[in-house]
Amino acid sequence: MSQFNESSRVSILPGVQGSCRAGRWLGFAISRQFAAQQELRPPVSSAGRLLVVIVGLVLALALSSHVLAQAPSAGARDVRELVSKHLTLLTDLPAGDDVDALPELFDQAFPQWCEYFGVDPAKHADWHVRACLMRTPERFAAAGLLPASVPEFRSGYALGDAVWCRDQASPYYRRHLLLHEGTHAFMHSLLGGVGASWYAEGIAELMATHSLVDGRLTLNVFPKSRDDFSKWGRIEIVATETAAGRAMSLPRVMAYDPKVDGENEWYGWCWALAAMLDHDPRTRDQFRRVPKLVESPHFDAGVAKLFGADWSRLAADWQVFSATIDYDYDFARMRVDFASGKSLAKDGAQVQVAADRGWQSSGVKLEAGKSYRVRAQGRYQVAREPRVWWCEPGGVTIRYYRGQPLGILLGVVYVGDAQANATNDWAAPQPLGLGGVIKPDRSGTLYLRVNDAPDSLADNAGLIDVEITGEL
Ligand SMILES: [Zn+2]
Repeated sequence: MSQFNESSRVSILPGVQGSCRAGRWLGFAISRQFAAQQELRPPVSSAGRLLVVIVGLVLALALSSHVLAQAPSAGARDVRELVSKHLTLLTDLPAGDDVDALPELFDQAFPQWCEYFGVDPAKHADWHVRACLMRTPERFAAAGLLPASVPEFRSGYALGDAVWCRDQASPYYRRHLLLHEGTHAFMHSLLGGVGASWYAEGIAELMATHSLVDGRLTLNVFPKSRDDFSKWGRIEIVATETAAGRAMSLPRVMAYDPKVDGENEWYGWCWALAAMLDHDPRTRDQFRRVPKLVESPHFDAGVAKLFGADWSRLAADWQVFSATIDYDYDFARMRVDFASGKSLAKDGAQVQVAADRGWQSSGVKLEAGKSYRVRAQGRYQVAREPRVWWCEPGGVTIRYYRGQPLGILLGVVYVGDAQANATNDWAAPQPLGLGGVIKPDRSGTLYLRVNDAPDSLADNAGLIDVEITGEL
């Protein structure tokens, strides 16, 4: 269905239909106004825009013979203009529901940005962004809509309240990119800054990750499934990089420098960090105070201070999250209560592992170079639909998750000190099943869990009894 709202206005820049003389002048007036905006002049109000249009029309009528003698610039011929309350979109994409709905969707984003960043929408009702959505950037350059002062960019670029986006391969990702650059524009113009690069890109990615249901846009969703987020791929970036031994620690993500690090994978890392801090109920309230710091020269120190005593735990939370990240992540059940283990008693240790939770401390510290035997037993539920699936610690081999049978008992020796530790201990868990031997390279606490997707823990139930015994 069309999501285009009647309050939006569509007009055509010169050349599209090739017969409108007034439109030709209108187009040039808009081009000049747009070029002027790139020098970061204050946004022109609706009344101001109307004035430009009227002046354009009067000039067009008065000088029509002169105008007719001039051909319109080649680039402007195929550029359409779509206008809504908060967006003027200039695009060379053909008319269609996905593209023509963008201005109205941008208007839906505005109050959500205001609410998230604590901005009064009534005070900024005339906030307006000019965006070029470009299939062929040369057209925009020829029309004076993409000045040489805009640096080369791969996907999108925001400067003050002007935005440029290259067209994208899916309707989802086209909207996503416009909302990403729109978030930058909103913060630049209404907050006065964007904070450190990890936050600027993380928050832009966070707000741009959206759902669209029956024409209703919702910013800042944690994706439930890959299907609705075509070409987005942020979760896959983090999961793949971590599994390949290229995990980024929390301090490393916060040191993100786009000039040195580039963009692609980093949009995944920055989104994931912002998503963890915003969607984990334990950190949300502090994270939502970060916008107050965007103009601070001591931004990162300010962020650390906001989290207070929680800050030292976040590097460890981040390691777990980036190693287990997946769609529809259940933050509450995946939360880890870190508890350093004690050396194993002579007669071993008995612990219980809940099937419906993420990693759980065994309370046992394993020493580097020594061998330990783990034996597990119990019967627990790993799914409810279409019927209850019972499972034992060996797992069920008719369904796999991340290369291991669903429900199999996994173990990790967590060395600790995630701030200093460049490797991610959680990235390569050891399958223990009904029993196994662990011989850690480094001393650390044994953590245990059953193998299941982070969105599928709620329908699990039951306990596993685990016995840990000492050197063989
Ligand atoms: Zn960006």
